[in-house]
Amino acid sequence: MGNFCQKHCACLKPYIPCLFFRREGEQDEKVGQVFPNLAVVRHDFQAGQNDRDNKIKGRPLPPLPEQHLVNICKFVALFDYEARTEEDLSFRAGDKLQVLDASQEGWWYARLLLPTESVYSHHKLQGFVPANYIAADQSIEAEPWYFGPLKRADAERQLSYPGNGAGAFLIRESESLKGEYSLSVFDGVSVKHYRIRKQDERGFFLTIRKTFQTLHEFVDYYSKNSDGLCMVLGKPCIKVQIPSTFDLSYKTVDQWEIDRKSLKLVKKLGSGQFGEVWEGLWNNTTPVAIKTLKPGSMNSKDFLREAQIMKNLRHPKLIQLYAVCSLEDPIYIITELMRYGSLLEYLQKDAGSKIFLQHQVDMAAQVASGMAYLESQNYIHRDLAARNVLVGEHNVYKVADFGLARVFKVENENIYEVRNETKLPVKWTAPEAIRYNKFSIKSDVWSFGILLFEIITYGEVPYAGKCFYLKNDALRMTHKKS
Ligand code: ATP
Repeated sequence: MGNFCQKHCACLKPYIPCLFFRREGEQDEKVGQVFPNLAVVRHDFQAGQNDRDNKIKGRPLPPLPEQHLVNICKFVALFDYEARTEEDLSFRAGDKLQVLDASQEGWWYARLLLPTESVYSHHKLQGFVPANYIAADQSIEAEPWYFGPLKRADAERQLSYPGNGAGAFLIRESESLKGEYSLSVFDGVSVKHYRIRKQDERGFFLTIRKTFQTLHEFVDYYSKNSDGLCMVLGKPCIKVQIPSTFDLSYKTVDQWEIDRKSLKLVKKLGSGQFGEVWEGLWNNTTPVAIKTLKPGSMNSKDFLREAQIMKNLRHPKLIQLYAVCSLEDPIYIITELMRYGSLLEYLQKDAGSKIFLQHQVDMAAQVASGMAYLESQNYIHRDLAARNVLVGEHNVYKVADFGLARVFKVENENIYEVRNETKLPVKWTAPEAIRYNKFSIKSDVWSFGILLFEIITYGEVPYAGKCFYLKNDALRMTHKKS
C-alpha cells in the first residue's frame, strides 16, 4: 500500500506522511516496521506451502541480538510481566535479569537478580520471559527515553498523553534516515522534532559545534542546557503502550493448536457473518479474544494454511494471531483482545463529540502503516473496512481479519447481492475484485479509500441509499427503494 500510494496518490502525502517516507537507499521491497523484538526469528514454514508463503519466508528478518550479550551482560525489564503459565517468570519494569537460555524463539529462559534482602525472595526466580520485554542493561534499548523504530505521528501521540509535562521527550530511530535518530520534545503545547546526526568521527550531534560520543551524553547535556532546543529536556515520555507478545507462551510458539479446554469464554463481544467473538481467558491468566466460527464456514485445511502465514505476520498495527482450536467445530481463532472493539462502532458512538480531524488522520495513518507492512509481506487483506479495524487503549488502532476472506466458504455466489446494507462487502471491494475475483494490493487500496470515508463520516454507510448487484457479469448500481 505504501508503494502504491507513493506512485499514484501523491495528494495523500500531507495527510498520511508515513506512507511516503523512505530511508536512504530504501528499496521498494523493504520490509515494514516491526516490533523492536530483536529476539524473534521467523518460523520455519511447513513443507509444501505455495510460492507466496515462500516469498514471505525468504524476506529479511529483524536483526538478531548479539548472542554474546546473553553471556556477558545483565538484562533489564522494560515492562511489567505477569506469569501466564507455571514455567513463566513474573517481573516488574526495572528488575534485573540474567538470561540463561536465549535459544527459544521470542521467549528466553531467565533468572531474576534480586538484592539478597529483597522481600520477593520467596518468589519464583527462574522461568520463561518474553524477549521483547527485556533489553541488555546499559544499552540504549534499556533507556526509558529510547522508543526504537517509532513513527513521528506515534511519537506525537505518546508525548501528548496526560502525565507528560513540558519537557517530556523521547529518542526514536529516524524514519527517513537509516542509522540516525530523532529527538521529539513536548514543549507543553506541541511536539517538536529534531534530527540527531551521526558521523563516525564526530559522534552524535544536533549542531556541529556540540558533539557527543554517546546518546547518554547527548541526553545528559540537553537535560541541563536547552542550547537551541525549544526547551531543556525534562522527564522521558511515559511508556504506556505495552507491546503484545507474539504468542500466548513459549509453548505455543510452534504448537499453536491449543486445547479448547484451556479457554474460558467470558463475555460475548459481538457477532459477524461467520460467527461470534468472545472475550476469553486462556489458562485462567491471559485475556484474549476468541472468534468462534460457524460450523462449515471454512475448510479447516485451507484455514490452517492461511493461519500459518497470519501467525507470522507481526506488526504493532496488526492484530496478533495467538493460537487456534481447529481440530473440531466450531473452529476457534484466538487473538489479542482490543478493549474498545471495532472502529466502526467506536466512530459511530462518538459521532464527532470527542474525535476530531487530527485524531481521524491518526487512525488512517495507523491503519496505513499496518497495511503497508502487509504489502511488504506480499499479503492481501481482501476485507479492509472500519468493522475490521479494532480499537485498543491509548488510541491504538489495529487491522484485523486479514486474509480470512480468502478462506471463508461463500455458500451463495451472489454474496454481492443486496442483503444487509451495513454488511455488504461490495461497497468496500474494488470493481475488478468483484467482477474478476482479482484481489491485489490495488484492491486493498480501494478498500482503504472507502475506510477513509467511514473514518471521516464517523461510520456512515458508504454510498448511502445505493444498492449494488451483479447482472450479466457486470456490476450495477440502483437507488434503494424506500
Ligand atoms: P464480518 O465478520 O461479518 O465482516 P465483523 O468484522 O464486524 O463482521 P467479527 O469479526 O465477527 O465481525 O467481530 C464482531 C465484533 O466483535 C466486532 O465488531 C468487535 O466489536 C468485536 N471484536 C472482534 N474482534 C475483537 C477483538 N480482537 N477484541 C475485541 N473485540 C473484538
